[in-house]
Amino acid sequence: MKRRRITVAIFLFLSNSLFAQKYELIIKGGHVIDPANGINRIMDIAVSKGTIARIAVTIKDSSEKVINAKGLYVSPGFIDIHTHVFVGTQAGLFANGVNSVSPDDFTFRSGVTTVVDAGTSGWRSFPLFKKQVIDQSRTRILAFLNIAGEGMTGAEREENTEDMDADSTAKMIRQFPEIIAGVKIGHYNGKEWMPFETALNAAGKAGKPLFVECHLPQYTLQEQLSRMRPGDIITHTFENISERMPIIGEDGKVRSFVLDARKKGILFDLGHGGAGFWFDQAAPAVSQGFFPNSFGTDLHRFSMNSAMKDMTNVMSKFMALGMTLEEVVQTASWNAARAIRHSDLGNLKEGNPADLVIFSIRKGQFGFMDSAGKSIHGNKKLETEMTIRAGKIVWDLNGLSAKKPEQ
Ligand SMILES: [Zn+2]
Repeated sequence: MKRRRITVAIFLFLSNSLFAQKYELIIKGGHVIDPANGINRIMDIAVSKGTIARIAVTIKDSSEKVINAKGLYVSPGFIDIHTHVFVGTQAGLFANGVNSVSPDDFTFRSGVTTVVDAGTSGWRSFPLFKKQVIDQSRTRILAFLNIAGEGMTGAEREENTEDMDADSTAKMIRQFPEIIAGVKIGHYNGKEWMPFETALNAAGKAGKPLFVECHLPQYTLQEQLSRMRPGDIITHTFENISERMPIIGEDGKVRSFVLDARKKGILFDLGHGGAGFWFDQAAPAVSQGFFPNSFGTDLHRFSMNSAMKDMTNVMSKFMALGMTLEEVVQTASWNAARAIRHSDLGNLKEGNPADLVIFSIRKGQFGFMDSAGKSIHGNKKLETEMTIRAGKIVWDLNGLSAKKPEQ
């Protein structure tokens, strides 16, 4: 009897030490770009319990799965701070409607692990958005709450100033401070500043940034920027449409009040969308060193089928305009994380969620379009090989993690 117990004990000891793997996943030999931590070299990354367990030049410990990332790049999962993902059944609408998209259907294939919904819901409809989409998705979904109580429900309801309430908006944010990243103002045709000020007030009460989505034709750009606070975000930076003054002046330079706003700490998000990206704005801006702070794609049913397409296409387009690979990765990861005040995201510090993307750079001739129907060419294009969300492989383009079929 005693001998049997000892045998069992020895067996348990051996099975724990010999067969238990230290990590769930190791990504080996990839070129890691993690601008927040100053990493731009070949390294190994180990993942355990959904978090980054270790990052080192060589990791020799055991792992349930090993991904060979030789010849590929590895970076923090991309963060898209301007999307419309409150998908539902309402015809012709973004809020609970068919104009929004289901996030998991589009995010992972372009290396995106976190999206921020740009005010498609307001404080009244956020609980439905959470139940219907946020809680059902593997993509991490955060939200800017629209100052309009019902969110993006079409001009008539969205512009009803009686349904803009700073207290109720701030209260909902305080209830979900980890999910709600700020307050959005956009789509208002009136002249009064009440909606803008109410949104600012709600953001102030909740201690969160304001996200300005434009479509505010009666407000001048200069006045909007002057009312915004450091850390507030304006999107559709490179649009050139009648409803808003473009950021490039008659002299071909970024306007001085725009430069002053950036100096003050206002963040300029891309907001590509269907009509928000023009080469006549972006090309001179980038060549003058005025980069977007983040690559919000304005993902929705229409933009993804136009010049925008997806995050990696947007990143490749900015490389064609002159940004470096490290700069576009930083814009899509760490800069975006800081804008939404999530220092646990967008970088590969040990202990952070293991949200990662492995990508290749294809070489060839590629065309990149803008919202005016113009195109430029580039010779590099990012392609997402694998996306990992909280340590789990959620996209694997070429079967990097798969086994060979049995003969
Ligand atoms: Zn939008």
